[in-house]
Amino acid sequence: MPPSFKLLAQKFGLPEEHLDFFFENRKHFNWEIKENRKIYCTIRGCDFAAPVAPGALVHHMIDLHEYGQYPFSCSVYPFLISRNLFKEAFI
Ligand SMILES: [Zn+2]
Repeated sequence: MPPSFKLLAQKFGLPEEHLDFFFENRKHFNWEIKENRKIYCTIRGCDFAAPVAPGALVHHMIDLHEYGQYPFSCSVYPFLISRNLFKEAFI
């Protein structure tokens, strides 16, 4: 396997243990990189976007939409939910 393929595979985030498979079947895949990929907030009326990365929206959801862990009254069950939704549903 040429080093250039390994570099390409890293760029795509392919798991190391499956590189042989992807190299052997490379002609069956359409390799395409989209630059400036962004992930968008799905809250209605919010136009926030961030570069695609793990956890890219976490701080935005907590800071702007008050997402967090709120215990339910029947049992202490942590649940990622908007405080506003929590109020509407349980208060
Ligand atoms: Zn938002």
